[in-house]
Amino acid sequence: MPIARLPPDAVNQIAAGEVVERPAAAVKELVENSLDAGASAIRITAEGGGLTRLLIEDDGCGIPRAELPLAVERHATSKLAPGADGALDLLNIATMGFRGEALPSIGAVARLSIASRAAGAPDAARILVEGGVVTGPMPVSWGGAGAGARVEVRDLFFATPARLKFMKGERAEALAISDVIKRLAMARCDVAFTLEQDGRAQLRLPAEAADEEGRLARLGAVLGREFQDNALLIQTAREGVRLSGYAGLPTASRGDARFQFLFVNGRPVKDRLLQGAARAAYQDVLARDRHPALALFLELDPALVDVNVHPAKTEVRFRDAALVRGLIIGALRHALGSAGVRPATTVTGAALGALGAAPSGAGGWRPAKPGFDRRGVTGEFAPLAQSFHGVMEAAPAAVSSAPAVAAPAPEPELYPLGAARAQLHGTYIVAQTADGMVIVDQHAAHERLTLERMKTMLAGGGVARQPLLIPDIVELDPDDGARLLARAEELAALGLVVEPFGPGAVAVSETPALLGQVDAGRLVRDLCDDLAAFDEGLSLQERLDEVLSTMACHGSVRAGRRLSPDEMNALLRQMEATPRSGQCNHGRPTFVELKLADIERLFGRR
Ligand code: ADP
Ligand code: MG
Repeated sequence: MPIARLPPDAVNQIAAGEVVERPAAAVKELVENSLDAGASAIRITAEGGGLTRLLIEDDGCGIPRAELPLAVERHATSKLAPGADGALDLLNIATMGFRGEALPSIGAVARLSIASRAAGAPDAARILVEGGVVTGPMPVSWGGAGAGARVEVRDLFFATPARLKFMKGERAEALAISDVIKRLAMARCDVAFTLEQDGRAQLRLPAEAADEEGRLARLGAVLGREFQDNALLIQTAREGVRLSGYAGLPTASRGDARFQFLFVNGRPVKDRLLQGAARAAYQDVLARDRHPALALFLELDPALVDVNVHPAKTEVRFRDAALVRGLIIGALRHALGSAGVRPATTVTGAALGALGAAPSGAGGWRPAKPGFDRRGVTGEFAPLAQSFHGVMEAAPAAVSSAPAVAAPAPEPELYPLGAARAQLHGTYIVAQTADGMVIVDQHAAHERLTLERMKTMLAGGGVARQPLLIPDIVELDPDDGARLLARAEELAALGLVVEPFGPGAVAVSETPALLGQVDAGRLVRDLCDDLAAFDEGLSLQERLDEVLSTMACHGSVRAGRRLSPDEMNALLRQMEATPRSGQCNHGRPTFVELKLADIERLFGRR
């Protein structure tokens, strides 16, 4: 057969396979067109998962009657203007669309109707495309005075029945449509959105202010109140790249990464970079199978990011991916570090749920100013907080309940975590705060403090070691022993000195002083488990958080140890002064807060 050009219909149908592979993709293209047209309100109606009917109505600038035929023509767009040199600048794209493909593609596989009234035009016009055949423009009645567009798509894929067979069913398509709208709605909180599917209103989102508060309100409306109440503000910039948005507290984490959203120059994108960066940033505050909720917004020079990777434009390529990754990790870590001892309302909610009551809403102690850090500890407990570890290490195994040091009990109002009132079951510290109470898990809390202290020491030159009078000989599986000894030098910097001691055994001669009396055998065996799970190529430095948290766990006040009131108060003050102390090294909360209002609710007083 000789080579022949494909007829335009076939070209459009082939393009449609990529641009509108499913109804949600058509919805995305049409809503993006509305956003590009400067709409302030967009109404989306879908029937039968979008396969039967789609209607997108906006109040944007509209399309002049004379341009309607061009709008449905392939590779015709109003969004790429030639630069001064007469060339089109594909590297500098500020609109959502630019390929001029969506409308002709949809027209090739469905019954498309575009009615519009252009800004300033006396009346509206309409054009039809059915299976690639264009009719119009023709006059159409237009209720209302303003400009805008009404794009209707009926019988999607009627012209390509083979494609119809690939649809996953109406329910799945309907879900995909609402997912697309949610992402776009998060990207543009200043635009009102409504979504109605099969006669049911699914989303009704009023326009919000174009600032951080408006954005948080929109995120809350889309992702749920829980996200809104448990999110940390992210705001940073480096080398012309601006990052903003909200990051969920570790204690409000999720079982999968579905609640992680990235927007690049207002465009929702799916990029693996985000999940990797989130994992790195949260690695020492979250267990590996938990994922933070995130909505992050990157703003950068359009020339530094390529959105023209795929016709659907949901993938991007960054000119400097390492910069973006570093920026995200740094900003998330900073936010987590300055979150102070803010617990998640989810934790209070779960506690009250177990007791059969609803939380009082905006629970959770919030630092008076962001970045409540060790400088924040003042007054009589400051020295005590600093020396908490000293107190713990020097204390005999069974502390009498009488205070060893006669420090006065602090006023509950003075401190976010209040004044310790009791220790229950040798495990939980109960403290009274200005407007409620907190229950602290002493082991989880102390583990966190030890980890943070070790990190600080490490940054300041190394972890202090404590020699054992008699080296501890630990029997190990030979493979484990070899792996451990291969890291001996790195471990020594962390305060643990191990030497070979014949086949299948090591001698532990020094341990990190901070850990106090530890069971060297158990510590070494746990570390061997860590090392076995690591990638050979990684240095200990790269897995530092895991190694340190294993060590910290061993050095922590075990549950079951009785604490004096001074020790308890010192622990509370130390928690207030330590970044990330709201959760243990595995992302579990270190304390639960109950407001008086919550307690009153429990007793039916409210
Ligand atoms: P692209 O968005 O890539 O330019 P489309 O095929 O999606 O390509 O749209 C073609 C053109 O039709 C757009 O460039 C725009 O000028 C016009 N258009 C489409 N939808 C609308 C709308 N809702 N309001 C105003 N103009 C629109
Ligand atoms: Mg478009």
